[in-house]
This record gives sequence, C-alpha cells and structure tokens, in this order.
Amino acid sequence: HMENQIDIQMDQRKGRRLVLFPLPFQGHINPMLLLATILHSKGFSITIIHTNFNSLNPSHYPNFTFHSIPDGLLESEASSLDLVALAKLLNIKCTDPFRDCMDKLLSDASEEPISCLISDSLFYFTQAVADSLKLPRVVLRTGGLSSLVVFAAFPLLRERGYLPIQDSQLEELVVELPPLKVKDLPMINTVYPDSYYEIVACMVNESKASSGIILNSFEELELSELDTLRQEFPIPIFPIGPFHKYFLTSSSGSLLAQDQSSIAWLDKQASKSVIYASFGSLAALSEAQFLEIAWGLANSKQPFLWVVRPGLVRGSEWLESLPSGFLETLNGRAHIIKWAPQLEVLAHPAVGAFWTHNGWNSTLESICEGVPMICMPCFTDQKVNAKYVSQVWKVGLQLENGLDR
Ligand code: UDP
Repeated sequence: HMENQIDIQMDQRKGRRLVLFPLPFQGHINPMLLLATILHSKGFSITIIHTNFNSLNPSHYPNFTFHSIPDGLLESEASSLDLVALAKLLNIKCTDPFRDCMDKLLSDASEEPISCLISDSLFYFTQAVADSLKLPRVVLRTGGLSSLVVFAAFPLLRERGYLPIQDSQLEELVVELPPLKVKDLPMINTVYPDSYYEIVACMVNESKASSGIILNSFEELELSELDTLRQEFPIPIFPIGPFHKYFLTSSSGSLLAQDQSSIAWLDKQASKSVIYASFGSLAALSEAQFLEIAWGLANSKQPFLWVVRPGLVRGSEWLESLPSGFLETLNGRAHIIKWAPQLEVLAHPAVGAFWTHNGWNSTLESICEGVPMICMPCFTDQKVNAKYVSQVWKVGLQLENGLDR
C-alpha cells in the first residue's frame, strides 16, 4: 500500500530542495539515507553533504546530489578509538567547510530553492550555521526517544549526584527515570569525560533550538517518553520511523561490503534455530571477551551466524585469536563473516535470536522482525536501549554480571 502511494508521489516533484548532512558513522548514515529516500519519494529534491571521512558512494543513489567536504581530520585522528574526541573534532573541523558548501549551494541559481537543512543531532554546530544563513534546521536524532529523554536529563542527573557515576552507586535505581539504574545511564569510556558532557549538552540544546526533531522510532513504542520530550522541547517532534519499513526493499548505505553468503547459509538451517551475533560498526572487544563469546556460542549447541568486523577485537586483524581448529570442530554449525546484510538476516525464518550490542538501529530492526534479543550493550544509548528491551518492552534478556562462556 505504502509502495503504491510512494510511486504515485514520485511523479509530483515539489521544486524544493532539502540539504541533508549525516554524521559519518554507519548507525547515523543508514537512517539519514533512508530519510532522504522517504523525503525524495514525497517529491523533494535531495542534496547530501558528507565528509571525506567515511565518505559515501554516490553511485548507490542516482537520484541524489552529493557534495563532499574536507573534514580536515588527520589519518591518526580518524582512526582514533576515542569516539568522544572524534565527535568533538568533527564539530570543530567541519564548521568552515560546511558553511562554505552551504554558501555555494544557496547561491546556485540553477538549482531549486533550498527549504531546509536536516542534520544529525550530533552535528550540533550546524544550528548556528543554519541560523546565520536564515535557513531552518530540522534535526535527525538517530537514537530512540527514551535515550534522548535521558540525555536531556543530564543536568538534573548531575545536580542529584547520579553523574559522574560512582562505582558504589551502580545498582541504585534512578528514581527520576525508572526502570533505569545508575549502571544503565548512557556513558562511555573516554579520556575526555568533560568533552562527553559538553557534546551531550550541545546535542540537546542545539536540538531544542532547531525547528523540529525527526526520530527513527514510533509513538506506540515510546509513548510516555514522547510525552516527556514534548513537554521539555519547545519544538515539534516527529517519531516517523521505522524508516526502513516505508519500502519493500531498502537500498543500503553500507560502508562495508555485505557478505551475501550468510543468506545461503541461513537457508540450510532449521526454523528459528540460529543465533545471529553482531555488535555493530563501532564496538570493540578485548581478546578475552571475544574468546568468551566464541566459546559461549560454541557451547550453546545452536547454529550461529557471527559478524566479526575487522577491528572488532582490539589488537587483532580478524579471527587470529580463535584457537586453532575452533571452527572445524563445529562442523558447519558456525558461519563467521565480516559484515552481514543485517535486515535480510533478521527477516530470515532461520534466525531465532539476536545477540546484539543494542545500537538503536539494530534494536529497532530486531523489534520490527520480531526477533528476541540477547542484550550486551557497550556504551552510550546502547545501555538505555538494552534496559528498555529487557525490562520495558520485554523482548530480550540482558547479559549482566560479566561475560562468561
Ligand atoms: N549492520 C549491517 N551489517 C552488519 C552489522 C550491522 O548492515 O553486519 C547495520 C545494521 O543493520 C544497522 C547499522 O549497521 O543499520 C548499525 O547501526 P546500530 O545503530 O545498530 O549500531 P552502531 O554501528 O551505530 O553501533
């Protein structure tokens, strides 16, 4: 039904252009490109500005116009493991190139007039640029409503002594945000804790200063959180997800090649028998954690499809730390790949559970396909998502108290 509607609207171009600016990480690129596809289907023309870092491949999106800006990141900075430092640096170094690019786009008389900028909530610097250009900015928040409520409560959480987190308080309930405990607060290990608080504050404040927030979530899932946000944010909030369900097939903004051998392998497995394990595009594990997971999967006696992204294991290229003969002893019960076509995998009838780090996209994709989750959050909003999955929506179990084979 939706497809038909979209086909009809394809022919009615609006003569209006939207400029979209995704944060250059996989979990942010995917929803932004899906949003672009949705808005294009509603008749808008689409221009995407992207950084050189994790740059996009325009050939996957012939309907969109792409502009690449120099982000000025050094090789060493771009490969930095500290996401906080990287996020802050991107906001500083992209400011001038982004403004220059917007100036050019706005003065180009050969293009349709630009109605609005849509930028990632973590590109908070873009609010000031949009203001100075007298252009409305709409924010895309790629996480859930529930985690945004928690981020918006950071000043209160600091005032009440929950933050910075004290180890002695980890098991305490955050009475203002049930059912979250202190250990579920969206923190990250970083050498720059002050920068993390600053980034969260800027993300929230510049979102409040925008013309509206689009979220890849839906009212039925996070109704009371939506109510809270509507009270606290003076702007319209549009939870119009799940974006990937607007279309029968979603084209991909994948930065890595998706290994299609997983589907042929799944075709040979019994219904709901397979554990799909993937920890997203950013999470990193120690070798010890990696081995506990490997043995846990082996000991489960279930077939498993495991995404081991190059770089997942700190200090390893790929699978070197597996004991020799590990895979052979499993007799085809294991299929390990570098990157999966995740939407197709989750929709496959052979998949019975998803062992996930609870990045928001993965969480939402799993909910949409009705796949129960084994939750192992690493950092930031993943901790909130895992708690909601296990305790609020009750569609998963959280692995707690250490990781043991
Ligand atoms: N993804 C994928 N193949 C994989 C693992 C992940 O295509 O092997 C996609 C997944 O479908 C999701 C995105 O990458 O859309 C990851 O986003 P998420 O928010 O789950 O986690 P992040 O990578 O941001 O930690």
